[in-house]
Amino acid sequence: MEKYSSIKIIQENVKICKKCNLCASRKNAVPGKGKYDSDLIFVGEAPGKSEDLQGEPFIGAAGKKLNVALKNAGLTRDEIYITNIVKCRPPKNRIPTNEEKIMCSNYLENEISIINPKIICVMGNTAFHSILDGKEISKNHGKFFYKQERLYFVTFHPAATIYNQKLEKVFKNDIKKLMTELQKLKIESTT
Ligand code: URA
Ligand code: SF4
Repeated sequence: MEKYSSIKIIQENVKICKKCNLCASRKNAVPGKGKYDSDLIFVGEAPGKSEDLQGEPFIGAAGKKLNVALKNAGLTRDEIYITNIVKCRPPKNRIPTNEEKIMCSNYLENEISIINPKIICVMGNTAFHSILDGKEISKNHGKFFYKQERLYFVTFHPAATIYNQKLEKVFKNDIKKLMTELQKLKIESTT
């Protein structure tokens, strides 16, 4: 319950946030959404058009791809928590600037520390670079990384799979791999 109210406070703060210039062009800020005590947090880049209109993360075309991959791995959206590096849509879906990412980073840090997931799934180059200082998703997808005692898993952004069936398969396989690892961690923690 405490987690619930702490996450709720972040969500409410995001909705009225004016810390960076993206607040001027957004229709709605898009707070993270999902299970407050989930084992998994998924992190994308920034809201797109549909998300901006409705104030919810990953509800457009990329979100649909993600849902398919989750289902394929036996997961539903209710079981995970999903959020973005920046919570407001950049104009024309441009990549968020360093300043925007820095101004918004506290929200993500707090989401992670409150939820305290077993694995954080980092989707796409923007999230990979922002969180792990990584680049070249195509070489690093499907890998696990440890940073400050947290376990991260790296994969493609689901938007990259929209017109690319090959990548869609790879993405689905990655999400399955993530689930397999999570199951192992859960078994280890109960034995
Ligand atoms: N792409 C993202 O990175 N995040 C969303 O919420 C939607 C699309
Ligand atoms: Fe605030 Fe983040 Fe939105 Fe910028 S992107 S206004 S820091 S919530």
